[in-house]
Amino acid sequence: MDNTTRLHLLDLIRRAQQATAAHTAAVRAAARAAKAAAQARDHVDDLERQRTTAQDPAQASEATDELDEPLEEYANCLHRLQAAKNKVARTFLAARAANRTLGASYARHARGRARASSRDQIAAGLLDELADVPLEMMDAAHAILVQSSAGKDSLVMLHRIATWAKKAGCLHKVVVIHIDLGEESEWPGVRELAQRQAERYGLRFHVLRAEGGLLGLVEKRGMWPDAARRLCTATLKRDVANKLLRQIAAELGLDEQAVILNCMGIRAAESPARSKKQRLAIDMRTSANSRMVLTWHPIFEVTDREVWQEIATHGLEYHPVYDALIPRLSCVFCVLAPFDVLVRAARLCWALGLPLPARYRDLEAKIGHRFKQSHSLAEVYAEAERLERKEGALVWNRGDAVRQHLGADAADDYLARVALAA
Ligand code: SF4
Repeated sequence: MDNTTRLHLLDLIRRAQQATAAHTAAVRAAARAAKAAAQARDHVDDLERQRTTAQDPAQASEATDELDEPLEEYANCLHRLQAAKNKVARTFLAARAANRTLGASYARHARGRARASSRDQIAAGLLDELADVPLEMMDAAHAILVQSSAGKDSLVMLHRIATWAKKAGCLHKVVVIHIDLGEESEWPGVRELAQRQAERYGLRFHVLRAEGGLLGLVEKRGMWPDAARRLCTATLKRDVANKLLRQIAAELGLDEQAVILNCMGIRAAESPARSKKQRLAIDMRTSANSRMVLTWHPIFEVTDREVWQEIATHGLEYHPVYDALIPRLSCVFCVLAPFDVLVRAARLCWALGLPLPARYRDLEAKIGHRFKQSHSLAEVYAEAERLERKEGALVWNRGDAVRQHLGADAADDYLARVALAA
């Protein structure tokens, strides 16, 4: 099977899934409409009973007058229920047609392949086959977006994408996107670093600004996001990037469906939640008939050590906060970071002359919402102060991150490589 056929089948799967989801939503809406109609009917019945059992003619007439509005409401409910039932029938037919089209097309193209018992299994097989041939997949795509935070994983992903794209003759399709959360959220120099990292390969670079950043979001909502409700990632990053993604797809101006690869530096080793993701997946939220968006995690199976090895081997420029042994280039006070990393971040801010620790601690007090259940920012601040008194200010040297992960020789080699390239 060639990649054009794989992509065609994946689009049929997307259509079938969306049609099935529309049918499920219609069934739920019909159930709600039926419940509302039953409640309206009960109300009418109550008033009818009051009217027929009234001893006093005045009471009976009052009950008759009161009936007009509930009867009208009941009629409206019946109308809505009928419309909902019609939608259930329509979406059922659409879902059946989409699934039949998929089944027929898959049967035609999948002769000799292992039998797949579900749509998800078919999709997983096709996506795996595509992910196994990155160069061919890039060749088949119309645009390749690289979401870069400028962190170590983004850096290695970008290096791989640029190397593969060059081999595949696809460098012109690659666009690097960086979301700038602003100086009150992120470490200094992140945006500039993301740009230098993209320019190393001569790639187009887009900066999108998430107005207000993390602090603005928290001030507006009066609460901190958490792991279960990562509003910060959804509102500040995903929604902002998806807007540009739609714009880029539209600007392609294609007569056929645009195929967009949306690359992210997520790795399975980072967390149990991330390990459940796939190397390649259909982005159902952003895909439409005019564009098929595939979320690609090109370094999904790469370990932490391998990331640092690749950075060292290729002399890739990473952010200095890693040398101060901050493990992720996230927001300075990321809601997902453990206590000891937040304490170190506060101390690093002081070493860099940044006013953020007091700013965040004061915001926590102002909104009256604890940063995390396990610890408050006031506790982080107090612990950072205690360590400063005990150990003095943080000190670090360029290359310490490579030294920590790969040893002193690797760090010396890395620094020599970077100096040579400068
Ligand atoms: S880095 Fe952390 S705090 Fe910042 S947007 Fe991501 S999850 Fe939220």
